Amino acid sequence: MTVIRQDDFIDSMADALQFISYYHPVDFVQAVHKAWEMEQNSAAKDAMAQILINSRMCAQGHRPICQDTGIVTVFLQVGMDVRWDDATMSVTDMVNEGVRRAYTHPDNVLRASILSDPAGARKNTGDNTPAVIHMELVPGDKLDVRVAAKGGGSENKAKLVMLNPSDSIVDWVVKTLPTMGAGWCPPGMLGIGIGGTAEKAAVLAKESLMDPIDIYELRKRGPSNRVEELRLEIMDAVNRLGIGAQGLGGLTTVVDVKIKDFPTHAASLPVAMIPNCAATRHAHFVLDGSGPALQTPPNLEDWPDISWEAGDDVRRVNLDTVTREEVATWQPGDTLLLSGKMLTGRDAAHKKMQELIKSGEGLPEGVDLKGRFIYYVGPVDPVRDEVVGPAGPTTSTRMDKFTDFILEETGLLGMIGKAERGPTGIEAIRKHKAVYLMAVGGAAYLVSRAITSSRVVAFPELGMEAIYEFEVKDMPVSVAVDTRGESVHITGPAHWRGVIEEQALELI
Ligand code: SF4
Repeated sequence: MTVIRQDDFIDSMADALQFISYYHPVDFVQAVHKAWEMEQNSAAKDAMAQILINSRMCAQGHRPICQDTGIVTVFLQVGMDVRWDDATMSVTDMVNEGVRRAYTHPDNVLRASILSDPAGARKNTGDNTPAVIHMELVPGDKLDVRVAAKGGGSENKAKLVMLNPSDSIVDWVVKTLPTMGAGWCPPGMLGIGIGGTAEKAAVLAKESLMDPIDIYELRKRGPSNRVEELRLEIMDAVNRLGIGAQGLGGLTTVVDVKIKDFPTHAASLPVAMIPNCAATRHAHFVLDGSGPALQTPPNLEDWPDISWEAGDDVRRVNLDTVTREEVATWQPGDTLLLSGKMLTGRDAAHKKMQELIKSGEGLPEGVDLKGRFIYYVGPVDPVRDEVVGPAGPTTSTRMDKFTDFILEETGLLGMIGKAERGPTGIEAIRKHKAVYLMAVGGAAYLVSRAITSSRVVAFPELGMEAIYEFEVKDMPVSVAVDTRGESVHITGPAHWRGVIEEQALELI
């Protein structure tokens, strides 16, 4: 019989969540580094360089890898011989207390992203609780805990299908992945759950992402069962699609494919696929009654020491004086270094702006979008002497449905976000001769270093979704949709898919 103290469990949870907010798993860093070394598309290589530099900065500075510090997901295996000493809380409450302490830690405050009443008021719970908990009673006298902080951008791309038993899982993945766009911030991993029922397949997919990257070892030793064969087949087929880092086109889209399976009904083949993003974050600990299980800091020498320089052809842009004529000369793929003032806004702010304009009330004072740029971001709160916490871009396609209206009504000149724009967004950009610029998703701390001042100008009640005015100095972005509506997220993957096929390139 093992006796576990409530405080030991809470402390261990809080410690693990703080730890994974700023330390990537070393296996993930090494896999992205390997992909970076092999990459031939300079845009994708640049994006991975920024992800790796950001990762090192976060490990050194103990600040979040991404502004989206995730929804906490926990897999608990509770030994049947475990007893709880003086517990006043349920196990679920202990997990949530650990989340609360981690996300409100004053040295490294994390962004509270969880909203209650999701189909209604969508009110922020303030401390990132509750976690999503999967609990299992198992033989033994230990408490085994796997915990992840899952980014919303990658979670949003989860897919579930009930295939016919004779259908090909590889074909379904290859057909489905391009429809997911790049809002899941590749390079990352795919978690695939096969079998059981619909909900079982989804949980298996999520659980598979808790395992370390080992596909290179698997490739070396060779598969020993059908699941291992499938992992390699899917990995190769997906990387041959040429989607690449951030969807810019390139040789590596995924650095591993994980699969868990479970027996299923004779009539069924449920398959769930959940991607893990550039902010892959998970940890494991075991409580055996001897006290809290705290994480061991990694050796920073395991992080590659690479640098990123804007190329010679980089354009410096003054956001305070930029004109439509200047914007019209920007070409898809151009790298820009932005300086000057921009406004921010994401889902809730766009909804509110649209409502206010439609009602005739107009936008609040300080929100004049004419000739300006808006950055789709929900930053982490600052600590110590920071101007703002990590502040990377959020998925732009969510703003597509507002784009035509906002461009038409406000005279906005351009938008900055992550990943591709959908057909509606691109058409609106073309129609209004606006522009869409892309920053690297998963490089939030690095991006925030370019922000020299920050103030809330409207909707403070929306918390991280408020409208801020940022002043930036040399913020790196690239032109993702130009004024004619040409999108690098369409041309890049198509080009690199062809290159991979024609040259039979070796992939990761
Ligand atoms: S890396 Fe991208 S998908 Fe992942 S948490 Fe950050 S913004 Fe979201």
